[in-house]
Amino acid sequence: MQDTVLVVGAGPAGLSAAANVTAAGYKAVVVEKEEVLGGAPILSGYAKLVPSGEWAKDAIGRMVSRVEQDGNITVYKSTKVTQLDGEAGNFTATLSNGEKVSAGAVVLATGFTHFDSINKPEWGFGTYEDVLTTTQMEQMVASGKIACPSDGRVPERVAILLCVGSRDRQIGREWCSKICCTVSANLAMEIKEISPETDVFIYYMDIRTFGLYEDKFYWKSQEEFKTKFVKARIAEVTASGDGRLLVKGEDTLVKRPIIIPFDIVVHAIGMDPNEDNPEISRIFGVGLEKHGFIERAEHYTNTCGTTRKGIYSCGATYGPETIDDSISQGAAAGARAVADLHALVRKAG
Ligand SMILES: Cc1cc2nc3c(=O)[nH]c(=O)nc-3n(C[C@H](O)[C@H](O)[C@H](O)COP(=O)(O)OP(=O)(O)OC[C@H]3O[C@@H](n4cnc5c(N)ncnc54)[C@H](O)[C@@H]3O)c2cc1C
Ligand code: SF4
Repeated sequence: MQDTVLVVGAGPAGLSAAANVTAAGYKAVVVEKEEVLGGAPILSGYAKLVPSGEWAKDAIGRMVSRVEQDGNITVYKSTKVTQLDGEAGNFTATLSNGEKVSAGAVVLATGFTHFDSINKPEWGFGTYEDVLTTTQMEQMVASGKIACPSDGRVPERVAILLCVGSRDRQIGREWCSKICCTVSANLAMEIKEISPETDVFIYYMDIRTFGLYEDKFYWKSQEEFKTKFVKARIAEVTASGDGRLLVKGEDTLVKRPIIIPFDIVVHAIGMDPNEDNPEISRIFGVGLEKHGFIERAEHYTNTCGTTRKGIYSCGATYGPETIDDSISQGAAAGARAVADLHALVRKAG
C-alpha cells in the first residue's frame, strides 16, 4: 500500500494530484462522491473558463480523460470515505460501498460549495424567476441563447451583482472569493456576444481582476463590449409593475440613491467551505481553519500538508482558488505525497 495514494475528490485539483502520483510511478485511487468527474466546472456546467477562454467541458474534460485512461488509477464514483484507520505510510480507508482501500498517503481535494443565494433574500433570488446565479447564467450562455426565464423575452438589460456571499460580514462570509470579478467581466462579454442588443451592468464594491486578468477582462469588457461598471451598495431587488426587476441601492461614487430597471439580475456567487468539511474533518482527523476551510499544516514549509501527517490537501479546500492554481496545488500535493512515501520506504529499508 506504500505505492498507493488515495485522492478524495475529482475536481481540477484532485485530477491533477492523481495524474502526478502516477507520473512518478505510483498508483492512485480516486474517490469522488458525485456520478461524474471534473468538480465544480463540470458539475455546475461552467461556460468558457477564465483566463484560457476554453469551454470548461473541453478543458476539464481532457483532465478527466487523462485520469480515466490511466491504468494506474482506480476510480470510484458516487462513493465516499466513511472511515480512515492507520497512520502515514499505512492507511486503510473504508468506502461507502463497503470496500476497503489501503494507501500510504491521502490527498484531500474535496473543494468548495457554491454560496447559496437563498441566504441573501433581499436580493431577490428564489423570489423572482429572473434572478439567477452566475452558474445558472453560465449554463444559459452554454445553451447559446440569452432569454428571461419568466417569459423567454430577450433582456434589454442584465445586472450582475458582485460579492454575493463574499466580503459580507453580516452573513459571516468575510473572505473575497477571488475569481468572481473576472468571471463576471467575462460573462458580461459572453452575454453581449450572444445577444448584442442586451446591455450589461456590473455593480461592484471594488474590482479585483488581479494579475494578468486586468486588461483581458476588466478593460476589454468596458472598451470593446460596453459593459457599464457601477460602484454601488445594493439595498434590494424588487419587482416593478411591468414584470421587470428594480435594483435599488446607492451609487457610492456620487453618493446618491439609484434605482434601475433590469430584465435579468445575476448574483456573482462566492465560494463557501465545502459543506462536507465538518464530516471530512472528523473522518480524516484534520483541522479546519476559522472560516471552515481545511487548515494548512505550515504556510511556507509544508504548503500541501494538513494538521495530520500523511494527509495532504490542495485547491479550493484551503480557501477560494482559481482552477489554474488548484491544478498546480494538486500537482504539488501529489508529488509531495509520493516524495514522503518514498522517504518512508527508504527509511524502513
Ligand atoms: C461561478 C464560478 C465560476 C468560476 N469560473 C472559473 C473560471 O472560469 N476559471 C477559474 O480559474 N476558476 C473559476 N472558478 C473557480 C473554480 O470553480 C475552482 O477554482 C475549482 O473548481 C477548484 O477546484 P477543486 O478541485 O479544488 O474543487 P472542486 O471543483 O470543488 O472539486 C471538488 C470535488 O470533490 C468532490 N467532493 C467534495 N466532497 C467530497 C467528499 N466528501 N467525498 C468525495 N468527493 C467529494 C466534489 O464532488 C468535486 O468533484 C469559478 C468559481 C465560481 C463560483
Ligand atoms: S473577486 Fe470580486 S466579486 Fe468576488 S468576492 Fe472578490 S471583490 Fe467580490
